[in-house]
Amino acid sequence: KSSSLLDWLYKIEFGPPIEAKRGWPNCDLCPLCKRVQECGTHLFYKCHFTRRLWSLIIDKYHILGLDTTGWPLFDSVEAWWASTCDNDTPNHQPKASLTMLVSWTMWNERNARVFKHKSAPPTILLASIETEANLWIIAGANKLGSIILRE
Ligand SMILES: [Zn+2]
Repeated sequence: KSSSLLDWLYKIEFGPPIEAKRGWPNCDLCPLCKRVQECGTHLFYKCHFTRRLWSLIIDKYHILGLDTTGWPLFDSVEAWWASTCDNDTPNHQPKASLTMLVSWTMWNERNARVFKHKSAPPTILLASIETEANLWIIAGANKLGSIILRE
């Protein structure tokens, strides 16, 4: 369910004591775009790098109703989530699955860069998202399959 992603994102955004222990820095330079100070959930929907990856996905799968250009204007995860996969947006269920998958990938990539000093370009992350999506679909994520497995 989409609410588990929201719970997870909220913990990141509103749980500074826990995240501080786990190494969430107080606004260091974002390890993904290296352009802006990373605060809270920047990497999920404001980051230039994340939105570039999303553009690759949207173009490849012709996903309607997703446009990343306005994302930096959202001031909360809740507002961003509502704009992308709220119940009254088209295809909201597969988009919610996809949003969860991409956000999880960005979080892992961010951690790989911070803690392991390893980095992958958007094209590699796109391939890993596709691999993961296929596993989800095999496991029964039919809604995700409705937008990802078109070829
Ligand atoms: Zn960034």
